[in-house]
Amino acid sequence: MAQLARSLALAALLAFAGLSAAEHCLPNDGTGCWPSQAEVTKLVDSLSSEAEVLLPTGPNADLYMSYATDTPGNSIKPSAPGLIVFPMNEGDVRKVVTFAAKYKIRLVGKCSGHDQLQRSNGYGVIQLVMTRGFRNISYNETDHTITFGAGNAHKDTYAFLAEKKRFAVGGTWAYVCPAGCLSNGCYGFFTKEFGTGADNVVGLRFMLFNGTTLNLDATGPHRDLFWAILGGGASSYGVLLGITAKTYPAPDTFIIMKVFLSIWPANMTAADGAPSVFTRFLTNLTWYQTVPPHISWQLDNQPDEQRVLLQISHTGRMAAEASYAELTDLIDEWTEGGYYIAHGPEFYTDVADFAVKNSGPSPPIRRVSQSIYVDADQEALDKVAGLWEMLYSEDFKSRLSGLDGAFQFWAQYRYGPGSAAGKAPHVARGMRTAMMEIAHENVWMKQADDMDRAPLSNQVKELMEPLGNSSYQNHCSSWASYNVYEDYKTRFYQNWEGLTAVKKKYDPCNLYVVQYGPGWDLPKATCSLSTPSTKRPPPKRSPPRRHLQA
Ligand SMILES: Cc1cc2nc3c(=O)[nH]c(=O)nc-3n(C[C@H](O)[C@H](O)[C@H](O)COP(=O)(O)OP(=O)(O)OC[C@H]3O[C@@H](n4cnc5c(N)ncnc54)[C@H](O)[C@@H]3O)c2cc1C
Repeated sequence: MAQLARSLALAALLAFAGLSAAEHCLPNDGTGCWPSQAEVTKLVDSLSSEAEVLLPTGPNADLYMSYATDTPGNSIKPSAPGLIVFPMNEGDVRKVVTFAAKYKIRLVGKCSGHDQLQRSNGYGVIQLVMTRGFRNISYNETDHTITFGAGNAHKDTYAFLAEKKRFAVGGTWAYVCPAGCLSNGCYGFFTKEFGTGADNVVGLRFMLFNGTTLNLDATGPHRDLFWAILGGGASSYGVLLGITAKTYPAPDTFIIMKVFLSIWPANMTAADGAPSVFTRFLTNLTWYQTVPPHISWQLDNQPDEQRVLLQISHTGRMAAEASYAELTDLIDEWTEGGYYIAHGPEFYTDVADFAVKNSGPSPPIRRVSQSIYVDADQEALDKVAGLWEMLYSEDFKSRLSGLDGAFQFWAQYRYGPGSAAGKAPHVARGMRTAMMEIAHENVWMKQADDMDRAPLSNQVKELMEPLGNSSYQNHCSSWASYNVYEDYKTRFYQNWEGLTAVKKKYDPCNLYVVQYGPGWDLPKATCSLSTPSTKRPPPKRSPPRRHLQA
């Protein structure tokens, strides 16, 4: 029975994924391009003894299925890789990378698997899971940089640095990995003050399609590739092996303060003409600019409760009493305005603790999400206030009643002087100009609800798109004809032409290509890597005719 269930599940995956045409070699695509069992076995035998390969059939097929469908962030787009490989060292990666390039098989790195576009889980890919062999972490006492493998999650690097009373800039979600996060910039608790994760990287170790390893930095001969990887899209250039990043002295205490605010002042409604908490504070640029860069937060709209939740993080390097006093000043302002409902502070000794306790598990969910960077511009912010006020209207509530899962509108106020001054040139424009990122997540659990739920995303997209033309790709997902981004070249990146040039230079066959990434608009898998065993000898030529001198 288990075997039957597995076969049915696999058939469903293949049927769905088979709808998309590709020039890459796919299993069972009728061309006979897929490597034979003997060739796969030869690859497996050549890897180090600790490396593991999971195949759709054979003794570890159950394990394969669980990894193939292991999509904590978004299970709406399941698709089955052709091979799943856990490499243990660079030699293993090189063998797999050159194998993939020889057969024109698309290869993707994988760390947490949280990618909202499911780029790490495509159909027929070789999925290279870095989480076992690439987890070394070291610290340079001289320049205070941290070097870590592409299989480390933020929680690993944060915990390692906590022992040294340091921190690095990265995402807020402890279980997400820098490897994928950095590919579109990566932001978190410290971004408002110190820029994005990408701005703080000083070195990368990277492997190209032909197995060449490169040490990349911001000034060396391959600086074009360095900057393309840091913001120019995931899985588009090769395989990331390791990262070196700046660190900073950590605060003595981190504080998260959860605050609930009402939308309208106490005992008032929209009909009274009073300003909402948005126009008065949360979308008011002048007010936001009075908040110091070490205070940032996530906002969750909670229309059912007629309130917003702010999860404020205080990362200032000052005594706990002084930090707390700054947060209390904010509470006082909201209380005077009549919006304050309740609050509760939580103290953490280090950023790992802070991140882990504020992340929570991420079960498989079905999700279509949108993100917009809202510029530090009052006109743009007023439109956000209008949208958010509408969420609290009776009309909107009635439209959502009866839906399971969640229909969330949240925002990250992590932008300010640090992000504006950052230097990674390809991250979305909004990462430099925004006051905040706003997002919508349409989340449900049951496959049977897909066709009811997904279309709602297009309706929300129409509401959100006028708010900004720049988005964080890491928080956008699309599926089938829903949530399609036709302006992806300018919405998700800066200097698309520059990224395309990098792409052509370092991946000339366009083997590493993903939806909305550089190279997606070009012919794919146009050539393959010749290996000694397959390389044809050069044709025999007759010796060049000598010119006779007169
Ligand atoms: C619950 C949740 C919270 C989040 N919080 C934040 C946040 O606070 N800040 C933020 O900036 N983002 C956040 N994100 C977005 C997150 O950055 C993206 O989902 C990102 O793609 C995750 O990267 P990953 O490496 O963990 O995931 P993966 O799915 O493993 O990888 C993501 C992409 O990177 C590629 N990739 C991974 N490893 C390699 C490698 N070694 N070589 C080449 N390509 C590779 C994959 O192929 C894929 O395309 C969050 C996402 C979720 C689901």
